[in-house]
Formats: sequence, structure tokens, C-alpha cells
Amino acid sequence: MSDSLSNKVDVIIIGGGPAGMSAALVLGRARRHVLVIDEALPRNRVTHESHGFLTRDGIAPAEFRQIAREQISAYPSVSFVQETVTDVTGTDGHFEVKASSGTTYQGAKIIFATGMKDAPLEVKGLQDVYGKSAFVCPYCDGWEMQDRPTAIIAGDHALHLARTLSGWTSDLIVFTDGSPRPDEEVEQLSSRGITIYDAKIREILSEDGQTHAILLEDGTEVPRTSIFFAPKLISGSDLPQKMGCTMTEFGAMQVDEMGRSNISGVFGTGDSASRMYQIAAAVSSGSLVGVVINSEFLEQDWENR
Ligand SMILES: Cc1cc2nc3c(=O)[nH]c(=O)nc-3n(C[C@H](O)[C@H](O)[C@H](O)COP(=O)(O)OP(=O)(O)OC[C@H]3O[C@@H](n4cnc5c(N)ncnc54)[C@H](O)[C@@H]3O)c2cc1C
Repeated sequence: MSDSLSNKVDVIIIGGGPAGMSAALVLGRARRHVLVIDEALPRNRVTHESHGFLTRDGIAPAEFRQIAREQISAYPSVSFVQETVTDVTGTDGHFEVKASSGTTYQGAKIIFATGMKDAPLEVKGLQDVYGKSAFVCPYCDGWEMQDRPTAIIAGDHALHLARTLSGWTSDLIVFTDGSPRPDEEVEQLSSRGITIYDAKIREILSEDGQTHAILLEDGTEVPRTSIFFAPKLISGSDLPQKMGCTMTEFGAMQVDEMGRSNISGVFGTGDSASRMYQIAAAVSSGSLVGVVINSEFLEQDWENR
């Protein structure tokens, strides 16, 4: 712990996903006292396999977290608690964090690594297949779904998603779920052989998480075995906003290239401060924030030496 600080940890990390744990690893190795508070509800918990992170391709998200926890536990100045943070107050050097249990924690710096959340899925049956045969990110799950008859349910993102998915399958159908796309978009899609259904979706038909067909309100049943969709995302926590952190139009914290928010001593990392929703990006930004915070402590300690 920094000499200038006593009876409290150097850094409280709110959120123990890839971003928060990456920051904890860097700070633990730098001998900082760190508390990771995590309610353990990551956005990718619906999926069984996580892809694209070097050395961990195909790993179960829970196992990824478990390995992270085991490795960080080698650094005795890092502690973990599982609970929900309900309030953060204070100023740089003197933050107070309240948790749902009523416990209060104190830290000199705060890192929000609280991720993003999906708004409740409105299409009936979509939750049953989410993470099994319905996905949100072609780079994460496109390989597994390659060459399948694929449904795109993506509103304003339909054209972008169709263009991206065309690298994995040529059998694409767009479902607008009752909100037709502009003529120019329809033209771009249909000129590439992509059919568009405008009727409302009544239900996704599936068994054991495997999609069979999209059933439309007009009774049409369109066989599909894979779905890519664009869920509405909301911030993983409203605490940064409540504290006065500037937020982007996408519900993320506005941070500079070092992860600093507009509030001194408050940092954002991972999905909660980015639009690159990938584990590699979250780990990278967590590591960066860890280094930036440790450098601030070193500078302060150096001046006081
Ligand atoms: C279905 C699906 C599949 C995916 N597949 C892949 C993949 O294959 N490869 C890939 O690279 N990426 C994948 N992703 C994206 C990846 O999961 C995220 O980019 C990554 O988890 C972001 O890490 P994070 O640490 O920022 O947030 P998260 O992993 O979401 O962790 C945030 C943590 O903060 C906690 N938290 C939030 N608020 C509070 C609070 N108030 N108090 C305490 N704790 C709190 C949450 O409970 C959670 O544990 C997938 C996402 C989804 C939805």
C-alpha cells in the first residue's frame, strides 16, 4: 500500500471480468493493495465457449475467470469479495464504496470494469437460443456458425451485420421484425441475393438451444439454424453516471486513451468504457489502466520521498 495511504486499499476495482482482473493482476504484481468487488454477472455468461483470445480459444467463460482468480491469488495484496456495489462517493485519494451487504470499503482510486448488459430480449424464444445458436459477434462465434442458414435480426445494424457475416456464410436472410429497412438498404441486400422478411417475428422455434426456424406473425416458417442479432446494450452499472462521469451516446464511460474519466482518480476499462466488445480488448485496457494508476502512485511517492 502507498505510504501516503493507510487503513484503505490503493485501488478498488468494481467488476471482476477480463478487464477488472487484468488490472488487478498488474496492480497486484506492482505490490498495490487492491480490492476486486464483483457481483459475477458477466454479459457472456449465456455462452459455453469463448473464442479468439490467444491461448484460451474455446474456453468456457467460467473457467477463464477461475484461472484468472487462481493466478491473481498468488499476489497477496489483492483481495476479492462477491457483492454488488451500490454507491461510490468521495474524491481522488479518498473514495468510499458501499456494497449491497451494507459494507463500506475505502480506496484511493476507483476502476469501473462493470461491462455492458443486454436489455431484455423482446423476440419470443430468442433467450432460449442465445449463446447456443444465436450470437451477437461474428468474430466471436462466426467460425462455429460458418455456412449455416443464418437469420439476421439487427434493426439499423442489419446491413453492416450482413456484410460482415458474408465472410462466414452465403446463406443469409434479414428479418426486420416489422420495421422495414430503407429502399437503398433493401436494394443493397437483395442485389446480393439476401432475402428480407418484413413481418413481425412471432417466435424463434428451437430445441435444446438449437434454432430450427423463424416463425413470423403471418404464419410463415423460415428454416434457419443460426441467428446473429444486435441487442440493445445498456451500461453494466449506472454508478459512473451517478458519480458524474461523462458517458458516450452508447452508454459507455468517456475515457481518455489512458482510461481516465473526467473525474480525477476514477478510471474506466473494458466494455464499460469502449465499443470493442472482446476479451482481448478488455484485457488490454485493464492492463493499461493498471499501469497508469501505478505510475500515478509511483510519481506521488517519488515526490514525497
Ligand atoms: C453471448 C456473448 C458471447 C461472447 N463471446 C465472446 C468471445 O467468444 N470472444 C470474445 O473475445 N468476446 C466475447 N464476448 C464479449 C466479452 O464477453 C466481453 O467483451 C468481455 O466479457 C468484457 O469484459 P469486461 O471485464 O469489460 O466485462 P464483463 O466480463 O461483462 O464483466 C463485468 C463484471 O462487472 C460486474 N459488475 C457490474 N456492475 C457491478 C456492480 N455494481 N458491483 C459489482 N460488480 C459489478 C458484472 O457482474 C461482471 O462480473 C461475448 C459476449 C457475449 C454477450
